[in-house]
Amino acid sequence: MMMTNTPRQPLLPASQGETTLGVLGGGQLGRMFVHAAQQMGYFTAVLDPDPTSPAGRVSHHHIQTDYLDPQGLAELSRLCSAVTTEFENVPAQALATLAEQLPVAPAASAVSIAQDRAREKAHFVRCGVPCAPYAVIETEAQLAALDDAALLPGILKTARMGYDGKGQVRVKTRAELAAAWQGLKQVPCVLEKMLPLAAECSVIVARDAAGQQVNFPVQRNLHRDGILAVTEVFEGNVSAAVAAQAVAAARSVAQGLDYVGVLCVEFFVLQDGSLVVNEIAPRPHNSGHYTIDACDLSQFDLQVRAMVGLPLVQPRLHSPTIMLNLLGDLWFEPGGDQQRTPAWDRILALPGAHLHLYGKLDAKRGRKMGHLNFTGPSPEAVREQALQAAAILGIAPF
Ligand code: ATP
Ligand code: MG
Repeated sequence: MMMTNTPRQPLLPASQGETTLGVLGGGQLGRMFVHAAQQMGYFTAVLDPDPTSPAGRVSHHHIQTDYLDPQGLAELSRLCSAVTTEFENVPAQALATLAEQLPVAPAASAVSIAQDRAREKAHFVRCGVPCAPYAVIETEAQLAALDDAALLPGILKTARMGYDGKGQVRVKTRAELAAAWQGLKQVPCVLEKMLPLAAECSVIVARDAAGQQVNFPVQRNLHRDGILAVTEVFEGNVSAAVAAQAVAAARSVAQGLDYVGVLCVEFFVLQDGSLVVNEIAPRPHNSGHYTIDACDLSQFDLQVRAMVGLPLVQPRLHSPTIMLNLLGDLWFEPGGDQQRTPAWDRILALPGAHLHLYGKLDAKRGRKMGHLNFTGPSPEAVREQALQAAAILGIAPF
């Protein structure tokens, strides 16, 4: 049985025949992975049950089965030389099963920690990286034993399957907490103290099997309604002290997981200037989409390199950049249900605009449909264009 994370020899794109790389999940992250892999001459296979998935539509192979379907997984191992994931909640068992046959990065062990907020927080504690005060709630007894003063007001979060602020309830009192846990059907949860945020940021690292790490610069992130809205990256987007701490913390979190692949670590900057870690994503991240246009290597390029055992090179930000997320809301007339097509012609008249749409056919409010990167000669110039785009599209200024 071969439980390796990465190949012993780099898997080069074949000069004859095909070297095929697989990805579990067919969302936009998978699509951008496929684009990066194909650019380097690899063939690609996507496993996702949705026949219209964004990545499935652009991949050489699309296996349309469930993530745990034995035939689907067997077909993926047959086609591929290595496999990665783009999907937060891919069953870790699928990765473990595949790892018996071929190199898989990241490993099931790391992904399963990222999937469970309680295990994730325990990992932060183990790495000595500060996180919000929290308590795990799995039983009535644990609920009763909580230290109210230390944890309320707080946010109750389901331990598993949360994303974009889903599965979260803000609670002020013990009565609200009990009601919120009832409302979440008493599934295992984590209660986190509500912290006074000054800003949010994230760091994306890539790590290889030998422990070599590279990182992108710190991203400053603005969330609205629990969903990433804007990412800004340039010198001075956060203080130098915060940036240095965030990079060091992200690296130690990856190191502690013996991680292979691309990992994003999200942080809160508190009003007193201190930094606490929020959560990790075991894959490229929405806050790293600017890397496609503003860096000499993208997060997806590094995902490909890490999984095939090719050298990880420190990426360089060559331009100040701002990313705007394009949510489905923009496809509706303001205040109505009437559908519209956003004025891309006007957007593309703006200097430094790079439009990315994921090929999703039905726009829904809150659904990630694409993103818009701006690059330019200075942070001020980039901000000016990004604000103009926001005004054209109906995104609130930032
Ligand atoms: P993602 O899509 O990033 O996976 P998620 O559903 O996992 O989102 P979190 O990152 O836990 O959610 O929280 C979403 C947002 O809610 C955060 O980005 C932050 O703005 C706010 N938030 C979460 N926890 C806290 C906290 N303890 N104190 C203050 N604000 C918080
Ligand atoms: Mg988050």
